[in-house]
Amino acid sequence: MARIVMKFGGTSMAGLERIRASAARVKREVDAGNQVAVVVSAMAGETDRLVNFCREASPLHDNSEYDVVVSSGEQVTAGLLAIVLQSMGVAARSWLGWQLPLHTSATHSAARIRGMDTDGIAETLDSGVVATIPGFQGLTEGGRITTLGRGGSDTSAVAVAAALKADRCDIYTDVDGVYTTDPRIVPRARKLEKITFEEMLELASVGAKVLQTRSVELAMKQHVKLRVLSSFRDVPGTDIVAEEEIGEHFVEDQLITGIAYNRAEAEVTLTRVADKPGSVAAIFKPLAANEVNVDMIIQNIADADGRTDVTFTVPRTEVPRVMDMLAAVQDEIGYESASYNDRVAKLSVVGVGMKSHTGVAATMFTALGERGINIDSITTSEIKISVLIAEEYVELAVRVLHSAYGLDDEEAAA
Ligand code: ADP
Ligand code: ASP
Ligand code: MG
Repeated sequence: MARIVMKFGGTSMAGLERIRASAARVKREVDAGNQVAVVVSAMAGETDRLVNFCREASPLHDNSEYDVVVSSGEQVTAGLLAIVLQSMGVAARSWLGWQLPLHTSATHSAARIRGMDTDGIAETLDSGVVATIPGFQGLTEGGRITTLGRGGSDTSAVAVAAALKADRCDIYTDVDGVYTTDPRIVPRARKLEKITFEEMLELASVGAKVLQTRSVELAMKQHVKLRVLSSFRDVPGTDIVAEEEIGEHFVEDQLITGIAYNRAEAEVTLTRVADKPGSVAAIFKPLAANEVNVDMIIQNIADADGRTDVTFTVPRTEVPRVMDMLAAVQDEIGYESASYNDRVAKLSVVGVGMKSHTGVAATMFTALGERGINIDSITTSEIKISVLIAEEYVELAVRVLHSAYGLDDEEAAA
């Protein structure tokens, strides 16, 4: 007997037919003698609908009430799944975020998990009853409902698995596993049998939405056995593993493991900034104080009169705030003009193979250059290279790089 956590995403919960199909998977695990806790997302599209209600109600709404609204989608699916399981002869009950409770910080709309009480739910599982748990939601110390940020049900599932000391955490979704890139953009993407936590973390953080970044972080820290697999088809999925478990040949043969993109950033440019000590600090200090995440930064070489352009990226949603902050410090910094471009996309290649190989960046720049795709800025880490390009080229660029690194599945339809 094993104790397992199964997580079903929005597409796997989208309507009763899909809920029945997911419930059948739960029943299979129960029939095999396993204890099962199931973490669910809201029906696909439901969270967007609820978010829009809040925005329409008031653009500057109270985030604690936003959480009350947007967390409700998961309550519906957790209850429906329990009803469907019962109708199949499987004993089940729901455990809502506040009932567990799953404790979080009070950062409404982006709360962080602090821990979870397990006594009640462990008793449920030990008595052979399936627990259905709404993902995405938690409870503050003060007793208010929180949500964990978009895509947060993955993180709920990993937290539940860690707290329950589950033997594994299976993330069921609408693709067959983790691919070399988004299979919806590149039909020749290949499914990975295994990927390291480190690589998955980088891929998730640069835009591969198949797992929420924090779920990977938590699984890595808490040693949760994590798998991504399809709720639609009975095919092997992808194991997320420690680097030692990946096998030598994987690392040596494969320079690049995956490619991801995101359209969530905007580029801000300040012209004619004085090239003197402290001026760059003066730009970024107010942004840091207001918790704006700055990602890529480039500073050009100063011209003859000691002035230079500084370009950096920030989340697109923060642009209005950032422009205000920069306007407020214009005199202090002494720049000439501030402008932004939100028609950009960040493209990233990730692979542990980069640690021991050279030429990865050259391949990237050459492949993009040959297609006439201009690179605006570049950042790198030990296992990742990211470039900023014009948004209109992003899908082409992903396909070009996928071929350039030899990742195409030649048997798949082009
Ligand atoms: P769920 O609702 O199950 O949480 P998500 O929509 O959050 O599902 O994540 C699954 C989606 O992630 C897929 O439909 C796919 O388009 C996208 N995706 C992006 N990059 C990848 C990748 N490298 N491998 C697999 N899926 C990816
Ligand atoms: N329903 C939430 C969202 O759409 C959480 C999740 O599905 O993971 O972001
Ligand atoms: Mg998701």
